[in-house]
Amino acid sequence: MEKELKGAPAAAALTEALAERCRILTEKGIEPCLATVRAGENPADQSYERAAVKRCEKIGIRVRQYALPEGADEDALCRTIAEINDDNTIHGCLLFRPLKNKAAEAAAAALLKPEKDVDCMTSSSLAGVFTGSGNGFPPCTAQAVMELLAHYQIPLEGKHVVVIGRSLVIGRPVSMLLQRKNATVTMCHTKTRDLPALCRQADIIVAAAGKARLVDDTYLSGGQIIVDVGIHADANGGICGDVDYEKAAPLTAAITPVPGGVGAVTTAVLCKHVIEAAEKISAQTKA
Ligand code: NAD
Repeated sequence: MEKELKGAPAAAALTEALAERCRILTEKGIEPCLATVRAGENPADQSYERAAVKRCEKIGIRVRQYALPEGADEDALCRTIAEINDDNTIHGCLLFRPLKNKAAEAAAAALLKPEKDVDCMTSSSLAGVFTGSGNGFPPCTAQAVMELLAHYQIPLEGKHVVVIGRSLVIGRPVSMLLQRKNATVTMCHTKTRDLPALCRQADIIVAAAGKARLVDDTYLSGGQIIVDVGIHADANGGICGDVDYEKAAPLTAAITPVPGGVGAVTTAVLCKHVIEAAEKISAQTKA
């Protein structure tokens, strides 16, 4: 196994396969299309949007970008979502979250058609992730963790995975996806007692706490695999993760870098969901 689990090779493999699926759809007269919806000028959202547009271009997916003002109210956001719902040429919708206006975010999630929900915003998609029914797409970042582990052929069955974080976008869904692969999952949060001791017992650690450099050498017993989901701007103008890479990496069997790890795979997963949404439409049209 490689020591550094870089996202780029996993993303490149996905991109190549998706470009072929996109070409087949286009030949059938279905041009896969993603709508992005951004409220305000948050640099993290803008950076994700740029990366998503670039990845879509590589694959051949069209992108419709909706930019609303910061703090857009419920009505404005719902008008945009309704427009996306009604437009049959749009197959997937990515709303950059979290929004400052929580009521508007909840209203948008309630309105979006589940079949266009490519980032698990609706309760119907979340139910699919939790029941394993196959309905709906998991959140792109949670699925990116799974794609990365699969790309590097990291066995999960019977492994003890400690997930740090229980948010609905990463911690909880990734725990469900890991359990589906027969891993034994311990989901941790801010009230977990002695997190370092739990991590020392893990075979694999998924760090999604949103706390810069939380996981250091004291969390490790040697030979473990770490997937670092965190993204933080550090004091030197660089980017770091939830793991203190310098202290942790020497003790691991393998570790994802930040940047260049999970984040690099997330946009490829987003595109995969758009293509799958378009393929479902194509299959229905045929039926
Ligand atoms: P969040 O703040 O919604 O959730 C963080 C979770 O971690 C919470 O459940 C909390 O209980 C837990 N937590 C926080 N501090 C902890 C601690 N000291 N010990 C144990 N548990 C703790 O964050 P999120 O939206 O789930 O995002 C997590 C991280 O992933 C952030 O750094 C975010 O920037 C990053 N992120 C990365 C991508 C990507 O593509 N790589 C995408 C989205 C988010």
